Amino acid sequence: MYGGAMTHVRARGDALAADEMARLIGLPFNDSDDVIRAAVAEASVPSLLMSMVHMAGDMGLLDELPKPFMLIAMDLQGGMSEPDKQTVRDRGFDVIRDYRDRGCPPPFVPDAAQLQTMLDVMSAGQVTAEYLDYVAADLRFSDADQRGPVLASTAEQRSEFPVVVIGCGEAGLLAGIKLKQAGVPFTIIEKQASVGGTWAANRYPGCRVDIANQYYAYSFEPTDHWSHYYSEQPEILKYLTDVMDRYDIAPHVRFQTEVTGAEWNERTDSWHVAIRTDDGREETLTARAVICAVGQFSNPVIPNIKGAMDFEGPAFHTADWRDDVDLTDKRVAVIGAGASGFQLVPAIADQTAQVDVYQRTAQWMAPNINYHAAIPEPARWAIRHLPYYGRWLRFVSWWPIADALDEQVTIDPDWDNGGLSASKANHGIREMFIAWMRVFCSDEQLLKKVTPNYPPMGKRTLQDNGTWLTTLQRDDVELINDGIAEITADGVRTIDGVHRPADVLIWATGFDVNHQLGPVNVRGLDGLALNDAWGDAPYAYLGVTVPKFPNFFCMFGPGTNAVNGASIIYNSECQMRYILGCIDMVLANKARYAVPRDAVCADYNRRNQERLKTMVYTHPAVASYYKNSAGTVPTLYGFRIFDYWNWTNRPNPDDYELQS
Ligand code: NAP
Repeated sequence: MYGGAMTHVRARGDALAADEMARLIGLPFNDSDDVIRAAVAEASVPSLLMSMVHMAGDMGLLDELPKPFMLIAMDLQGGMSEPDKQTVRDRGFDVIRDYRDRGCPPPFVPDAAQLQTMLDVMSAGQVTAEYLDYVAADLRFSDADQRGPVLASTAEQRSEFPVVVIGCGEAGLLAGIKLKQAGVPFTIIEKQASVGGTWAANRYPGCRVDIANQYYAYSFEPTDHWSHYYSEQPEILKYLTDVMDRYDIAPHVRFQTEVTGAEWNERTDSWHVAIRTDDGREETLTARAVICAVGQFSNPVIPNIKGAMDFEGPAFHTADWRDDVDLTDKRVAVIGAGASGFQLVPAIADQTAQVDVYQRTAQWMAPNINYHAAIPEPARWAIRHLPYYGRWLRFVSWWPIADALDEQVTIDPDWDNGGLSASKANHGIREMFIAWMRVFCSDEQLLKKVTPNYPPMGKRTLQDNGTWLTTLQRDDVELINDGIAEITADGVRTIDGVHRPADVLIWATGFDVNHQLGPVNVRGLDGLALNDAWGDAPYAYLGVTVPKFPNFFCMFGPGTNAVNGASIIYNSECQMRYILGCIDMVLANKARYAVPRDAVCADYNRRNQERLKTMVYTHPAVASYYKNSAGTVPTLYGFRIFDYWNWTNRPNPDDYELQS
């Protein structure tokens, strides 16, 4: 339980060093009044209000000053009026100046009751007592998340437990950091030449993250890394590279090397991991455990459209971007208007002669004025220096898109409007999204084409600041929603018989998420092949462990994609804490291996799918790449992120067969 200030990390024996903690929660400063004035003018006012409490140690500020109206997805200002914001800013200036003049002493950290009061103000009562530990850990009032499980194994045991990690994306890198800190030897195998996974592979113009970077970041790194609220791919790649350097993980990574298979050897209680380097050399590594961090977006799909391979010009997938193909003054056909196509088209339209976008299904877009916005330098100063401001900004960024969305994504079985929405609350979202589209487009014909005929949030919702609709109204961009009949040698023919010539064909057609291992052949107990066991309905207990696959752990595995909110990086941190707990459980029990019990895993997956059946993702009007051949959504996670945080805190030994 969060016990308040006494559990503050600075007070703990195993705490981070004070300077490291200051890096996370706010570096002391001695800047001028002008710097402070500029920072308060650009700050997120709800986050500023909370930081003021930390600086002044005065809970009374919360009674005195105006409060956020409610935390709203994609808004950093809590729906506050301009005069209310100004009142807080004016007072904030005084509080910050006073804090500076006092020499930036250690900030006030609330006890549990005080934190609840702060959260009541911040979230208009949404964050109830149940969430306190979870929120306190993320705000860094306790080190519950960073400390990880209290390890019962010895350092010597851990040092004799080599682990192979497959993939060096955000999850594989995280695995390396946490294994290193726990003293577990490891090797990461990465097929690309750099860290980054999907952020290294997806280099198409316009590629950027669609979860706010304050949340799409490691919780143990400061929130001031970012130049934009939603950064572009090069910056995310740089972030991952910087983090890799900071924790000195590169010496443990074998780049340009692919895992071709992994087999459990029952005689040696180890995994034999077959790898192949870029130049064709093959080798077998031996490990006591394997962490599979390949993610769900590593297998690009080129759909089976007639003539798909017949195009004679350059043709490539967004995840295999060709830097050598110059799009200047070219006619470009983009197949797919999902997350990737939606970002790509506006980014290339200035350069090309013509872009034809082939849309099979319209996508929902959520209003987000910050989507392309840079974080003004004064606001970055606030993140870097004002105590806990960056942590609260992270909270403002994540709370409204994570567990707070439950009502809007739940299907009301009595709600029937022909599949356009799934409930009254969901319908409200539909109307709000449509109103936003109308801000940027008055062309009724185009609006008809781009307005989805299924409930909002049923698929991944795209972030929009008007760029998409503005781009589609250009004379040199056309949105085509007639089905594709065939790809020809020099263009695309739609079913109405129209042939549109193209010089370049770009597949923005997504990934095969239901076969996330791709061709990697993983064999567990009795030679069982994981790809056979999974088919197109992959499963894992808590998305991490799989019956009959000893000491085998998934990150961003089956049943872990929280579609509409949440940060994959946050979820990876939950998974990695759990995986360390599992490794510790095996070692402390002097066991050969652990596998989850069949019944426990099956029950978990049944409950997850049952829950998902009540959610908009499985709504009959929604066709999405999440659905497998049976119409279920095995890659998705249906519960609250809070539950996931709780359940992955540490493994329950009763859930496992521990083989000695
Ligand atoms: P996607 O969302 O699956 O979009 C693929 C597009 O290709 C859809 O428009 C799809 O149409 C279309 N398509 C597929 N098969 C087709 C066919 N046979 N004929 C015509 N059109 C076809 O893939 P994505 O855009 O690469 O995104 C995948 C996931 O990656 C996203 O959901 C998101 O999680 C992640 N992502 C995130 C970001 C970000 O953070 N900003 C950016 C890119 C991707 P239908 O809709 O009709 O299936």
